[in-house]
Amino acid sequence: MENLIALVNRLQRACTALGDHGEESSLPTLWDALPTIAVVGGQSSGKSSVLESIVGKDFLPRGSGIVTRRPLVLQLHLIEEGREYAEFGHLPRKRFTDFAAVRKEIADETDRETGRSKQISSVPIYLSIYSPNVVNLTLIDLPGLTKVAVEGQPDSIVLDIENMVRSYIEKPNCIILAISPANQDLATSDAIKISREVDPKGERTFGVLTKIDLMDKGTDAVDMLEGKSYKLQFPWIGVVNRSQADINKNVDMIAARRREREYFSSTPEYRHLANRMGSEHLGKVLSKHLESVIKSRIPGLQSLINKTIIELETELSRLGKPIATDAGGKLYMIMEICRSFDGNFKEHLDGVRPGGDKIYYVFDNQLPAALKRLQFDKQLSMDNVRKLITEADGYQPHLIAPEQGYRRLIESSIVSMKGPAEAAVDAVHAILKELIHKAISETAASSLSFLATELKQYPSLRVEVSNAAVESLERMRDESKKATLQLVEMECSYLTVDFFRKLPQDIEKGGNPTHSIFDRYNDSYLRRIGSNVLSYVNMVCATLRNSIPKSVVYGQVREAKRSLLDHFFTDLGKKEGKQLGTLLDEDPAIMQRRISLAKRLELYRAAQTEIDSVAWSK
Ligand code: GDP
Ligand code: MG
Repeated sequence: MENLIALVNRLQRACTALGDHGEESSLPTLWDALPTIAVVGGQSSGKSSVLESIVGKDFLPRGSGIVTRRPLVLQLHLIEEGREYAEFGHLPRKRFTDFAAVRKEIADETDRETGRSKQISSVPIYLSIYSPNVVNLTLIDLPGLTKVAVEGQPDSIVLDIENMVRSYIEKPNCIILAISPANQDLATSDAIKISREVDPKGERTFGVLTKIDLMDKGTDAVDMLEGKSYKLQFPWIGVVNRSQADINKNVDMIAARRREREYFSSTPEYRHLANRMGSEHLGKVLSKHLESVIKSRIPGLQSLINKTIIELETELSRLGKPIATDAGGKLYMIMEICRSFDGNFKEHLDGVRPGGDKIYYVFDNQLPAALKRLQFDKQLSMDNVRKLITEADGYQPHLIAPEQGYRRLIESSIVSMKGPAEAAVDAVHAILKELIHKAISETAASSLSFLATELKQYPSLRVEVSNAAVESLERMRDESKKATLQLVEMECSYLTVDFFRKLPQDIEKGGNPTHSIFDRYNDSYLRRIGSNVLSYVNMVCATLRNSIPKSVVYGQVREAKRSLLDHFFTDLGKKEGKQLGTLLDEDPAIMQRRISLAKRLELYRAAQTEIDSVAWSK
């Protein structure tokens, strides 16, 4: 018993940590991990008596007739110290210290369910006994198997009881005490019949022979006890329980045990078997068997625990680190998360992650296409040229060359390039913004870095960082727009003189005073001016096509890489611990989850230590 108690205690420490406390635990509770012991047999074969003597306590209703009419699930709990007491599942928090009262409550509760008739019910009664003198075990007292219905019982009763009994003993972790009275033919034993059905190899069935003292004079149980009548895997054990007369006289357990011992050692037929007979021996055999069954479960339990520990650790690391408590730690944590986000963002631009190529697409396709759509040739149609030149001349037609007219024509064309320039700035801004959102969600979801889900972990920080980044981008966009439009304005403000000097001289013929004044506005003259302006404008367009991307990259892309979160960091530096705390306001559900995971992990580690020590002890 000592060994078993120590073993079960350690297991209990392990399992209480797990099954009984761990919510949604996949591990068995102690009671699942431990075998249960059930008594089966015919009516009045002595089941309740045997169970009582294993427990070492008088508390079960016994007697002739159908006494046990509901299953009794009896859990024994070892307590460190204190007075022993019992509790019923149907009467929580009511402590019974008088075991006669326990017996009465079992009888009363049986009647409550079945009525005063001899009905049988499959609804179990749960009884827990807390004592310093027991080992943690579950024992089940079952109604006796019958062959015929009596006293107004329905005909189905025989099968009903059989099915109920079977439902308990067919569980593989159930140890069966098959009780057969010695004063009946073993061939008719209901206990043997049903236990063989659920445990054909007899690996968990113990044959117990009761009422040896009641055998007819001249007969003995030696053949049965030696397994000659019916062989079981484990040797038969004979017991002598208290007779009805003993019960009526309140013979106590200790006296009964002593008498049982005397009976086997003094009866000549059994003397040679005496050391393997009796209730005490049955108790020892059972506890040894329990020990080996429990030990055989340990490797499975160990691997289950190890597996769960790994799962818990994985989930914990996926949830990320808990929040630092001091301002410095919090600041460091925020910076760390921001750096990881910033790194992701840059990787998008630099081609490590996708998306940066969209910017080049703007320069290579969208911008040239937009410039092309300006259709300068239409703008420089003859009518337009005439109109602008005439307007620029005012009341005095130009004498040599239409200087003012040229300027107006050129300016009006170049100014229209502001549209595509501005569109390029906006397009790149949109791409950068999209990359920020990508990088934010990657910082929240990547499973690669230990910062893994940090931005997911802190929804407020996520919002703040992405707002700050977008605000930065907007500032950069505004600056870049100014600079880029300036490029266009610069082209308007000063024309490339050389271009006009290099024009073939006859182009300037329009200015030749020898021509008639009426020639000056004729078609070929205007067409020449138009084509001069067009080639100048095309030249400027080609220049801007090259310089707008430079300005955009300089003002937006390069700047975003350099200083996306600078403002955010400056503001951060001014914040107090409490404000930093609100940034790290983790989702309470996650916080809770981490705490409970950590707690369970601790329990499982403790359980692992316990189980390992059980496994290694001999
Ligand atoms: P159950 O119906 O199988 O639970 O049987 P009980 O334990 O209630 O016992 C039925 C009756 O048989 C009771 O009166 C017991 O005192 C008596 N009894 C049980 N075992 C023995 C035994 O080994 N010897 C004697 N003389 N009587 C016994
Ligand atoms: Mg009984």
